Amino acid sequence: MVTETVEKKIITKEDIFIKARMISEGVRAQVSKEASPELYKAAMGENKVDELKIPEKLDFNNPESIIELFAEVNKTDTSSDFRQEIIFNGSGLRAPIYLNKHSRMELHIQDNNASVFEDGDILVTGTFSKRFEWLDEKLSNGLPISTVLPSMSASIINVVFSLSCMNYNTNRGCRYCNLFSNPISKKISMLPKETLRVWAKYQGEAVKIAIDNGWRGSIAISGGALAPAQRGEYLERLEIVLSSLKDAVGDEIFRKLPKVYNHCPPEDFSDMYKWKEMGITTTSFDLEVMDDAYFAAICPGKAAHKPLSYYKKAQEYSVEVFGPVSGTIGCVVMGIEPMTTLVEGFDERISKGILPLPLVFHSTPGSAYEGFRPPTAEWIIEASEKMADSFMKHIFKWIKPRRVNTKEGGKGLSNLSSGRFPTTHLSVLFDEIGFRLNKLLGGRKLSEIMS
Ligand code: SF4
Repeated sequence: MVTETVEKKIITKEDIFIKARMISEGVRAQVSKEASPELYKAAMGENKVDELKIPEKLDFNNPESIIELFAEVNKTDTSSDFRQEIIFNGSGLRAPIYLNKHSRMELHIQDNNASVFEDGDILVTGTFSKRFEWLDEKLSNGLPISTVLPSMSASIINVVFSLSCMNYNTNRGCRYCNLFSNPISKKISMLPKETLRVWAKYQGEAVKIAIDNGWRGSIAISGGALAPAQRGEYLERLEIVLSSLKDAVGDEIFRKLPKVYNHCPPEDFSDMYKWKEMGITTTSFDLEVMDDAYFAAICPGKAAHKPLSYYKKAQEYSVEVFGPVSGTIGCVVMGIEPMTTLVEGFDERISKGILPLPLVFHSTPGSAYEGFRPPTAEWIIEASEKMADSFMKHIFKWIKPRRVNTKEGGKGLSNLSSGRFPTTHLSVLFDEIGFRLNKLLGGRKLSEIMS
């Protein structure tokens, strides 16, 4: 659970730079199997998912057999593991642990304590979030709950309504993405709704166990691109996963959980009102990049479905339905388009009340851009400072409308801080914003300077 606030933690420029370096350069790591089985496996190169025997044809008449296969893949696949992070002492910044045996920085982990060294000097110390023990708890079918929690982290659980990506499977996936590169998803072109129903039931059970064990984060309703023949049934799929979730966690917790719709914009934007009735609190239509031409080149499958301008219009509509900023977000990948288009695009979006979440590009195994280099720490900092300028310039005009929406049960802008947005360990923008808010607030609450 993220507990740091802008009032309590002192963010420093030095820590922001170290975090940017950790994102860019990665770390060499000395990790025991006990401290982190996932990091240990990754460091030892034990990602042997390709050696698994997957049947030529999946048996959709037997959904349980497919879920068992996912459990097998999960035993070894560490390729999209977003849990590994350290939380810096003092500033509370959350930094991802990307392993790179050529990095000059070395990470030592002992129990919950982490230290990052360079040339024998300590750069930063922090807390290592150990594997949640409850990930080994069992679903009602006896499999570990991690089976149905793809790419989960301390701040996000993905509740998916598809188990593969049509774009990835037709070689038109977003070039940096490996979310559905596992050998089972590669064999799924059309997931029958009945199979989804079984998956969703277990997904609900897993979220309930997570919550019972203290997990507090956002639910992202997501999944890979549907095949064209299945696009028309997306609302039904949404209903399947949301009702299974509600049945599992109960009405009250369901209502309190932030639920982000993180998939394609609908054909008919007014569907967003239906989503709201179904419990969705936020939309995230991911632009991926800010520039149209880069969008077509980097996300060929998404661009063949809808142009970037359509995603942007959907975001603007969402501001009306779900409110600005916390109600309307969208991920962009930093470091694959020029800084100018990124920061201009950020400025334009935030001026309209849409909050882009920039995540720094990271080479992922199984993606088309595997082996490509991430941007440097200096590049990340410069772009983040420019986007923070835009944020501070525009944000205050959105605070009042959002406070009104807060009465309707949304999240207030006073929640803004470096650790509160999902996936902030993959970006330093919100740390830079936290640094500026710290200075601006000088110990006061945001509401005090707004009144
Ligand atoms: S980001 Fe692109 S490739 Fe990845 S799941 Fe989404 S549509 Fe598919």
